[in-house]
Amino acid sequence: MDSNGIAKTASLKNGNEMVSLKEILMKEIPSLKEPRHIISLGAGVQSSTMSLMAKHGEITPMPKAAVFADTGGEPRKVYRWLDWLEKQLPFPVYRVDNGNLKEDIIDATEGKNKFISVPFYIGKGKEKKIGMLQRQCTGTYKINPVNKKIRELVNLAPGKKSKKVSIVLWQGISLDEIQRARVSHDRWQEYRYPLIEQKISRQGCLLWMKKNNYPEPPRSACYFCPYRSNRGWQKMKLNDPKSFLDAVSIDRKIRNGLPTLSKGSELYLHRSMKPLDEIDFGKAKAKVQQVLWDEFEEECEGMCGM
Ligand code: SF4
Repeated sequence: MDSNGIAKTASLKNGNEMVSLKEILMKEIPSLKEPRHIISLGAGVQSSTMSLMAKHGEITPMPKAAVFADTGGEPRKVYRWLDWLEKQLPFPVYRVDNGNLKEDIIDATEGKNKFISVPFYIGKGKEKKIGMLQRQCTGTYKINPVNKKIRELVNLAPGKKSKKVSIVLWQGISLDEIQRARVSHDRWQEYRYPLIEQKISRQGCLLWMKKNNYPEPPRSACYFCPYRSNRGWQKMKLNDPKSFLDAVSIDRKIRNGLPTLSKGSELYLHRSMKPLDEIDFGKAKAKVQQVLWDEFEEECEGMCGM
């Protein structure tokens, strides 16, 4: 067997010719001939710019597709932006999901789910010694559905391994966020960081968009994501009041924790452990150190800081 699990010596009779099984499969599965370049599209500043740069031939080769993982929690303007972006790109954009994160949060507060995968702030008692719930939303709602789709695109069955690289997955991480870049653990897919290759920062992306007469892309991250700076909350409240009200509603909903958490636990979206609609973000003091999310300017981009 070779690295694709294809028998090297197997052959089948095709008319009068003996042809190898591998040759037949290579005809039917083009991905085995050469890796396909696919964009992991978060629909924020970086991945949108990267996709349009590919359209302009400034990043090559032309990707075969882009995959957007929908958590169901993006601000409305991100969905509007995605509708627009899709029409600009010369390759298909697949929208995939693994359920609806917002609905799963609500279900959990009502005891229909046992688990919340978002890292909400949790505290108990007067002192409210705080912590954060474990984050699993990125993997469950973003990385897994993208992986599922790209496996499907190269006919690699779930759980099946291949030593041959079938996919080169472009990630929208800019030079100023280089610390977020990772090497893929799967041998069948490689991660590529075209913006880092071209030494383009987030600001550089915005300049490129402007120079090419494109509108400014929105920031992409769930509106209820607790990894958000005071500045980020303040901006949302001023510029996207509907999303802010949606976030306030989730904040209220999660307050009494989950039936599965210890009694008296309270959950919050903001690290000050105050209700979101009562916070003066200009003055709010965090009870814990500013988290690294401030560096990311609340941009999730399909990776959520991983
Ligand atoms: S943006 Fe926040 S809430 Fe949404 S998937 Fe990423 S880490 Fe989770």
